Amino acid sequence: MQKDNSTHLQQFKSKAKALPYRNLFFLTIFSELSLRNKSMSELRQNRATKEWIILATERSKRPHQFEFKKMKRKKLPPYDPDCPFCAGNEGKTPQEIWSKREKGKWKVRVIPNKFPALVFKEEFLRETEGFFIKMDGVGRHEVLIESQKHNRSLATLALKDLEEVCLAYWERYLELKKSDKRIKTIIIFRNHGLSAGTSLVHPHSQIIALPLVPTQIRHLLEEAMRYFDDHGSCVFCDMIKEEISFEKRVIYQDKDFLAFHPFAPRVPFETWILPFSHNAAFGNISPAQAKKIARPLKSVLGELYKKLDDPDYNLIFRTAPLKDAEEDYYHWYIQILPRLSTPAGFELGSGVYITTQRPEVTAGFIRGEKRI
Ligand SMILES: [Zn+2]
Ligand SMILES: [Zn+2]
Repeated sequence: MQKDNSTHLQQFKSKAKALPYRNLFFLTIFSELSLRNKSMSELRQNRATKEWIILATERSKRPHQFEFKKMKRKKLPPYDPDCPFCAGNEGKTPQEIWSKREKGKWKVRVIPNKFPALVFKEEFLRETEGFFIKMDGVGRHEVLIESQKHNRSLATLALKDLEEVCLAYWERYLELKKSDKRIKTIIIFRNHGLSAGTSLVHPHSQIIALPLVPTQIRHLLEEAMRYFDDHGSCVFCDMIKEEISFEKRVIYQDKDFLAFHPFAPRVPFETWILPFSHNAAFGNISPAQAKKIARPLKSVLGELYKKLDDPDYNLIFRTAPLKDAEEDYYHWYIQILPRLSTPAGFELGSGVYITTQRPEVTAGFIRGEKRI
């Protein structure tokens, strides 16, 4: 069995060299599914989201197998004359909404998205069109430029600069909350890399303020409420205790935050960063606490950058809708989903993700353990 595995691994490595990165993971999955002799798969449920995932992996995965999922990015210059987000090219963007400045230079800059999903307007109509319902696309869509430098990312910013980015998230969240009573949900997110959906490589995040509560967020809230009713405690606070006691999925801990690979990850290396302090909404924390997010963020993204050669990922602030901001049953957190695989027909058809790596193993790999 051992010998077979290494032969397959060699074959895989040689094939992998000739293929674009995105195909590597497909090949890994096929390789794992088709070459497994004594296979086992497991269904796992995330207690907070109630989502089931299928863990399809061999019993004895070795961390060194992650090596062939690395990618080589094109080396970027610190300044690109054609990039609208680079310092010096400010005239190429819509008018600045907000900025943090130091010695006359901006450090973080917020602008309206030039191609917004939603726009601000006074009129707001909800109407029916026969059987269907529609409403005006009212809301806000902002871009938060994280650095003057074209070739930086959250993983490579200095801690002090990353603190400014975290503080900017917090300030914009509160400003958007105040700006329009019709806003019900604020989503802060970051698309890193082409397969994560980004269109510009210059480091930036986005914030969308919506006039509704999306079904997925409503579902998350309802499940948290149900757990609270049944157990009298917050499912996220309980998950923190469980992860600390189990240890193997934890990748970072300080006195304010815990970062771990969840028990039922949607994708390999999915990471949750949870604050110890129980709070439903990101906007409820203090500016000092907002700055402290920089430490776990730098550690988590820095390790992904180092260990997986800067993979594409999506980062999402999972915070309660504005009207639920004071509820006891919810607990805001940050979710990071590396794009090492692409959801396919099964995931889209079922909402059940197939993942090929155990979070206990991926967390060990991030912690630098040779094997588990
Ligand atoms: Zn740039
Ligand atoms: Zn909690």
